[in-house]
Amino acid sequence: MSESTSAAVSGEDEVVGLCSELIRIDTSNYGDHSGPGERAAAEYVAEKLAEVGLEPQIFESHQGRASTVARIEGEDRSRPALLIHGHLDVVPANADDWTRHPFSGEVADDCVWGRGAVDMKDMDAMTLAVVRDRLRSGRKPPRDVVLAFLADEEAGGTYGAKYLVDRHPGLFEGVTEAIGEVGGFSFTVNENLRLYLIETAEKGMHWMRLTVDGTAGHGSMTNRDNAITELCEAVGRLGRHEFPVRVTKSVRGFLDELSDAFGVELDPEDMEATLAKLGGIARMIGTTLRNTAAPTMLGAGYKVNVIPGQATAHVDGRFLPGHEEEFLADLDRILGPRVKRETLHSDKALETDFDGALVDAMQAALKAEDPIARAVPYMLSGGTDAKSFDDLGIRCFGFAPLQLPPELDFAGMFHGVDERVPVDGLRFGVRVLDRFLDHC
Ligand SMILES: [Zn+2]
Repeated sequence: MSESTSAAVSGEDEVVGLCSELIRIDTSNYGDHSGPGERAAAEYVAEKLAEVGLEPQIFESHQGRASTVARIEGEDRSRPALLIHGHLDVVPANADDWTRHPFSGEVADDCVWGRGAVDMKDMDAMTLAVVRDRLRSGRKPPRDVVLAFLADEEAGGTYGAKYLVDRHPGLFEGVTEAIGEVGGFSFTVNENLRLYLIETAEKGMHWMRLTVDGTAGHGSMTNRDNAITELCEAVGRLGRHEFPVRVTKSVRGFLDELSDAFGVELDPEDMEATLAKLGGIARMIGTTLRNTAAPTMLGAGYKVNVIPGQATAHVDGRFLPGHEEEFLADLDRILGPRVKRETLHSDKALETDFDGALVDAMQAALKAEDPIARAVPYMLSGGTDAKSFDDLGIRCFGFAPLQLPPELDFAGMFHGVDERVPVDGLRFGVRVLDRFLDHC
């Protein structure tokens, strides 16, 4: 294709095709190296960036596990840089459960279908589309922008973001702020107000194994030191425990905006009444008000007439920013002295203020494309690659703008069956990101 022909293609024209093509590259992440890896997707992205004059680099952390990074020179190179990051891997999908094949990237019913359509090949495609459009038409961003398309987010980022931050921190030199998942999507309140949820905080995670050692013996004998009995009592106490409500600044900001939007008083201490007033958005709030600890696995025994000497359980713990120590102290108090608690994996919580020039640029870009838009802060109950970039002192926001039809169950799309993204939402996202880059 000649230069003049390609110059006529806009980001809005390209985004759907880019999203489809990315979905068709299966990057399922099984949490080990048994999947196809991200190499093909990383090469695809690199090719799309090289076509418009960038010099992308591909970093392979393990065979087939690859990320692509490129830097766009801005107008004012003395200013700190902005990072735009997206992950290339997806969680696996079982095709039998889906209406359309999860790796088809099919466009139907005004949506792009497939695994990754919202998590997060949509944002990868939007980023590519906007950057290609801007570079084809010679529109530099006001400052340097680093683009990172990453492996392994769905398994904690060890072979993606964490690898690059640890081994190649120079790629992010001068970067002070970042945008990525999971934020920027819309929640329509009424015909006069549409909220766009910008992620400003993430809960931390603490995965643990609990062990009780007891006295092994014959199942017919009296045994007052049964490991299973002791462990199950402790796990039961923990699973039923309601951790105290702790309202962090992001959640406070979110609740204040909701109070305003719905014209009701919201009392985080009275969750039942609060959730009843909010309807569909309530699901987003519940777990961001308190620490949680969910028992997820149990193990003990090998024969019905043998009391085992040991019993174990696994627990998925999540804590609020600023409340990790309180969480661990609560755990030990609830579990009691018989239970040994080991940390299997932990990652930090994040929280930043919802203010500053970058937030203003998000607000303005959304408002310009949607007159009833209002950007509000919120806390994600899960984790993203932002945790790794925070290690470099980068202030991270979830901002992958999407305007969604009110009836779409967006939260249910993440890792869900029939994951799909509206074509209009993608095109809206391209326009918003383009405006945002004008003023970032
Ligand atoms: Zn994701």
